[in-house]
Amino acid sequence: MRKRVLVTGGAGFIGSHLCERLLEEGCEVICVDNFFTGTKDNIKHLFGNPYFEFIRHDICFPLYVEVDEIYNLACPASPVHYRFDPVQTTKVNVLGSINMLGLAKRLKIRIFQASTSEVYGNPSVHPQPESYWGNVNPIGPRACYDEGKRCAETLFFDYHRQHGIDIKVARIFNTYGPRMHPNDGRVVSNFIVQALKNEDITVYGDGSQTRSFCYVDDTVEGIIRMMNTPRGFTGPVNIGNPEEVTILELARLIIDICGSRSKVVFMPLPEDDPVRRRPDITLAVKKLGWKPRVGLEAGLKKTIEYFEKVISTTGYDFKKGIDIG
Ligand code: NAD
Ligand code: UDP
Repeated sequence: MRKRVLVTGGAGFIGSHLCERLLEEGCEVICVDNFFTGTKDNIKHLFGNPYFEFIRHDICFPLYVEVDEIYNLACPASPVHYRFDPVQTTKVNVLGSINMLGLAKRLKIRIFQASTSEVYGNPSVHPQPESYWGNVNPIGPRACYDEGKRCAETLFFDYHRQHGIDIKVARIFNTYGPRMHPNDGRVVSNFIVQALKNEDITVYGDGSQTRSFCYVDDTVEGIIRMMNTPRGFTGPVNIGNPEEVTILELARLIIDICGSRSKVVFMPLPEDDPVRRRPDITLAVKKLGWKPRVGLEAGLKKTIEYFEKVISTTGYDFKKGIDIG
């Protein structure tokens, strides 16, 4: 019997790669998405697969399906997107998590939560271990996402303690790769599109802030390994690549790989933009036997190849990044 797996947010960037991997592993996949930030393009190649099923649904409303496992990824992840509709962002994290946890409770099944490094906010501990409680502004423009994800973690752990739900929580750090939306406003997609068009590269602030970028295949491998750990290990566990770069270094690397004529321009730093971010992955190495395999340069090359294809087929005319119906 094939395992039947529900993936919420399955038409998004990471979710679509996860659906693909689960199908390859012989699972039956039910993908649920409301196309808030995801697109049909991300999953259209899966529609012919008899073991893939899509349901257009907003997880802020209850969902009745019969499945063996849930991966809960539904939530806009780009700051541009979550700031576009902050109330909906909090709702998907709180109401959406309650609905998915309720489903896991009724079915007595395991549930994975895609949490985030944003729970650490603007961290005063570096690199960030899972034991660090974070430094988050609860009323700032990023709070809908950061506090939403923190509350989702609280809900997962309370359902675990109160109802014995088998939970798996991973804190995912900045992930990049093919199927990021060209217009989604995240740094890797912005810089690549700008470099390929020989347009100015928009560095926010002085570019000295750091991030640690993980290639999507590595992230998906970490997610699946976390889901398959023995019962009793709940996490949270960091999934990310400890290779830390400044945003200015990233801009120069992308210009270099693309052979671009773009110039760097400096723009205002968004409010509450974290100064530095790098995962401590000791726990993931120990518990999941996992560490990233794809280095930044190699991952960027694959991502740039993808964007070159997108640009040659769309002629730079990308569909809008947000589908709010
Ligand atoms: P994404 O925006 O590409 O995907 C999110 C998906 O969720 C989209 O397809 C969107 O339409 C869907 N969605 C949003 N609200 C929904 C709702 N109410 N009901 C049903 N579907 C809904 O983002 P992503 O980068 O693929 O991120 C996936 C998950 O991983 C998110 O939970 C995100 O918070 C988490 N994460 C991502 C990163 C990253 O760097 N990409 C880092 C940390 C955590
Ligand atoms: N950033 C930038 N130029 C851009 C987009 C983003 O300099 O065109 C910066 C942003 O201010 C942040 C970093 O790149 O410091 C990562 O931003 P992103 O939105 O990708 O994710 P975050 O880690 O902030 O959630």
